[in-house]
Amino acid sequence: MKYLRFTCIRCGNCCTDKNTLINLTYLDILRIKNGLDFDLNELLNILGFYTFDKPLTSEDKKRMTITPMETERKLAFIGLLKNSLGACYFYNSKDKRCLIYSLRPMFCRTFPFSFESLKNENDDTINAIDIFYTEKGKEYCPGIGNEAPLIEEDYWIELGRRTLEELKKNQKIIEQWNNSVKNGKITPTVKKFLLIISKITNY
Ligand code: SF4
Ligand code: SF4
Repeated sequence: MKYLRFTCIRCGNCCTDKNTLINLTYLDILRIKNGLDFDLNELLNILGFYTFDKPLTSEDKKRMTITPMETERKLAFIGLLKNSLGACYFYNSKDKRCLIYSLRPMFCRTFPFSFESLKNENDDTINAIDIFYTEKGKEYCPGIGNEAPLIEEDYWIELGRRTLEELKKNQKIIEQWNNSVKNGKITPTVKKFLLIISKITNY
């Protein structure tokens, strides 16, 4: 038991920090697309594509919780678009609130926590989920101070379990996509990727 503390005081730091990328899995994208009834062009308008300054090493890739995908602009993360000040497209700064709260991505639901599967030594099956503060959370989330209440661990562990499952599904889809690009089977346009995932109905 770690006795983690947290309550969101709605300061908006995680929605407005210019160095925080609001990562999206394909499942986040589908929930937003279907929840807002967006067509592909409307969807493209709310997405940001974040490329890398230098080629990634295999160590860099191992550290990433979301696998970057091949796009027409090379390898990139897909995230929610941000304005020039760094605020998320869906952040209403006047009211300090999220305009898509019930559809917000897993990144936002789980902030300021991250999770890791703890596996049995013998058979590689998962026996527990570890939960810890993210580095960004420790950097700027005032909701994790000593005054905050202890978290309801069961709720967060269940959320962590779902998040890790979604990340695994996402990794599989992105790896399939990246391999198809590598093998010359598809041209990596983001629109094509969105078209392919839009056809997934059993998510
Ligand atoms: S930074 Fe922390 S306290 Fe502020 S809005 Fe985000 S989760 Fe809530
Ligand atoms: S989707 Fe909502 S909760 Fe997530 S960063 Fe944007 S405004 Fe904040």
